[in-house]
Amino acid sequence: MAYHNIIIAIDGFSSCGKSTLAKELAKHLGYSYIDSGAMYRAVTLYFLRNQVSISDPASVAEALSNINLAFIYNETNKTSEIYLNDENVEPYIRDMIVAEKVSEVAAIKEVRKFAVAQQQQMGLQKGIVMDGRDIGSAVFPDAELKIFMTADPEVRVMRRFKEMYVTNPHITIDEVRHNLELRDYIDSTREESPLHRAADALILDNSNLSRDEQFHLVLEWVRERTKPVKA
Ligand code: C5P
Repeated sequence: MAYHNIIIAIDGFSSCGKSTLAKELAKHLGYSYIDSGAMYRAVTLYFLRNQVSISDPASVAEALSNINLAFIYNETNKTSEIYLNDENVEPYIRDMIVAEKVSEVAAIKEVRKFAVAQQQQMGLQKGIVMDGRDIGSAVFPDAELKIFMTADPEVRVMRRFKEMYVTNPHITIDEVRHNLELRDYIDSTREESPLHRAADALILDNSNLSRDEQFHLVLEWVRERTKPVKA
């Protein structure tokens, strides 16, 4: 049976497993998956490479006018990857040097306007799963399904540590913990669209849920919100 497409907004703290869930849902539903954090990370990478002063609004505006972001589907990895001015920057955007700066960059009003306008454009056709910090509260306030994910802080630290250790065996658990705490703090206390649960978002605490249990629970939520298309 065919169903109407909806918008699924997934927000939450760093390393709650938002992207894992979002990718699984998108694959299962035939939706596109957009990692909004990758956009802020790619902008941050550009700022770092070009030594853009984040305290100078003119430099920020000029830098943004030179940035072109695109998501291109990679058939081999079966996921969309972010391109910064035609360069696939997936290999660099999760480095610690970017993670250390991204929340400061994402707190800049002009940067948010730049990213949110593109995100809203991507949602016009619906059939999209987007994860981030302000997707249900600011980007798609009318999304049919909003999920606010959370998990025990230590569970999150170990998840991110294992992920980062693959490409950086010198990383320490303390470094990862410090970065997550700092980003969560900046993300939740910034002036522009801070991270918070939208009033109509469903809370998903996955500290003690298996990936499979979580997936089936959310799929149920999706089905409750999609109507069959009449023949
Ligand atoms: O999701 P991810 O951890 O890759 O996001 C990196 C950073 O980008 C977050 O810590 C946050 O500062 C910023 N971000 C944001 N709004 C979003 C997505 C990410 O401010 N919608």
